[in-house]
Amino acid sequence: MVIKFSNVTKKFNSQITAVSDVNFEVKGGEFVFIVGPSGAGKSTLLRLLARESLPSSGNIFIDDIDITKIKHKDLPQFRRKIGVVFQDFKLLDDRTVFENVALALEVRNFGSNEIHKEVERMLKLFEIWERRNLFPNQLSGGEAQRTAIARAMIGKPDLLLADEPTGDLDPQTSWGVIQLLNEINSWGTTVLMATHNAEIVNTLKRRVISMKNGKLVKDTREGRYETH
Ligand code: ADP
Repeated sequence: MVIKFSNVTKKFNSQITAVSDVNFEVKGGEFVFIVGPSGAGKSTLLRLLARESLPSSGNIFIDDIDITKIKHKDLPQFRRKIGVVFQDFKLLDDRTVFENVALALEVRNFGSNEIHKEVERMLKLFEIWERRNLFPNQLSGGEAQRTAIARAMIGKPDLLLADEPTGDLDPQTSWGVIQLLNEINSWGTTVLMATHNAEIVNTLKRRVISMKNGKLVKDTREGRYETH
């Protein structure tokens, strides 16, 4: 898959331009960090790509399809191609680990045998099988994030969007999450991760897109994230 942002601007009102005339291209299988201070426009960029929001102007292409033109009724199908993870996990509190991950397949009308097989495979792969009957508030932050990543990946999306996935985690747990994202990327999944964790960015030496005040200010291979 190829992603292309072409002159993308997102204004929330006359004062706030969250994303300002942004252009970039990402090739299938890339791992890209989106960095920049709080309020730089990172989350807005990812939300635009997930079609949770529409740009004020400009176009966003995935494999030559302009996703800004996708009709409302076709959005669920489009979103199946994309996995999304957040800083605060967004797990359902009244469902177990197993049920949270299974839900992603239930809405796609998979049969129960297949759901069980796939969820088991995913939870074992992400080392949370032992936690399958616990509820989100009984999990550590790392386990909750691994559950959220399992949920995002169970439909085998081509693209994973991660918005500050290590934001609330301690350094060691953060590294576990990053290793997992790296592994997912090694399967061929394109990964875009918004973060302001300079240590992670500078250790991984992947492509870095830097945002500031809504503008894309730097785009470097094996980039570094200078916070000052
Ligand atoms: P980041 O993820 O880099 O912290 P955001 O994309 O969340 O930045 O925000 C960029 C700018 O857009 C900020 O000024 C923020 O306050 C504003 N913004 C984000 N979402 C909304 C919204 N729904 N309504 C109004 N302003 C918003």
